[in-house]
Amino acid sequence: MNCPNAMTIFKQGIHSYRDLPLRLSDCDALHRHEKSGELNGLLRVQKFAQDDAHIFVTEDQIGEEYKRILEIADLFYSVFGIKFKIRLGTRPDDFMGDIATWDKAEKELEQILIDNKFDYFVGQGEGAFYGPKLDILMDDCLGRQWQTGTIQLDFQLPRKFDLKYTDSDGSEKTPVVIHRVIYGSLERFMGILIEQFAGAFPVWISPVRPKSSPLPTLNKIMLLKFANN
Ligand code: ZN
Repeated sequence: MNCPNAMTIFKQGIHSYRDLPLRLSDCDALHRHEKSGELNGLLRVQKFAQDDAHIFVTEDQIGEEYKRILEIADLFYSVFGIKFKIRLGTRPDDFMGDIATWDKAEKELEQILIDNKFDYFVGQGEGAFYGPKLDILMDDCLGRQWQTGTIQLDFQLPRKFDLKYTDSDGSEKTPVVIHRVIYGSLERFMGILIEQFAGAFPVWISPVRPKSSPLPTLNKIMLLKFANN
C-alpha cells in the first residue's frame, strides 16, 4: 500500500494550516502476492497501479474535500457513461479510536451524500478499521457489481505517525487524512471496461482508430471539463 509513504512525506516538513488541504498523488506500482488460483485476467493481478491520493485536511475541511472528490468521481465515470452507487461503510467491530469521533464522521459523510443527492446506501460495519468510508460500486453490462473507487476518512494513521500542523492560533494539531482512489486498480478498471463494452470501445478510447478520424466530440468535452476544473 502507498499509505505509509504519504505519511512519511508529510512528516518531512513543517506544516501550517495554510498548507492544508495538502494533496499527494501516487500512481506507483503495487504488488499483491495472491494465492494460487486467485489471479483472474486483468481483474486480479499481482502487480498493478491505482489512481491513489492521500489528502491531509483540517477537521473543518473534510466536508468540502469530500464534495470535491465526489465531483471528480462523477466526472470520471460519466465520460464512460457508467452509473455508480455509493456504499457508506460504518464502524466495524475491530475499530480504532473513539466512538464519538466515529459517529461525528459518519454523520458528516451521510450529510454530504444527502446534500449532493448521491445514490447511496449504508453498509453497517463495513468501514475500514481506521475510519468510515465511501465505496463506489458500479454494475457492468451483465449486471455484476464491482467495487472500484473508495474514499476513506482516517483519524488514526496521522496520530500513529505523530503528524502535526500549526493552526492559526499557534497550537499544534493533528491533520485528518483522506485516502482516495477514483478508478481503483487501473488494470482492473480496464478489465471492467472491456467487459462493459464487450470489446467494442467507443472510438475515443479505441486502441485502433481510422487515420482520418477527427478528435471525437466526447474527448473534446472531457478536455473542456478538465480545463474548467
Ligand atoms: Zn492510503
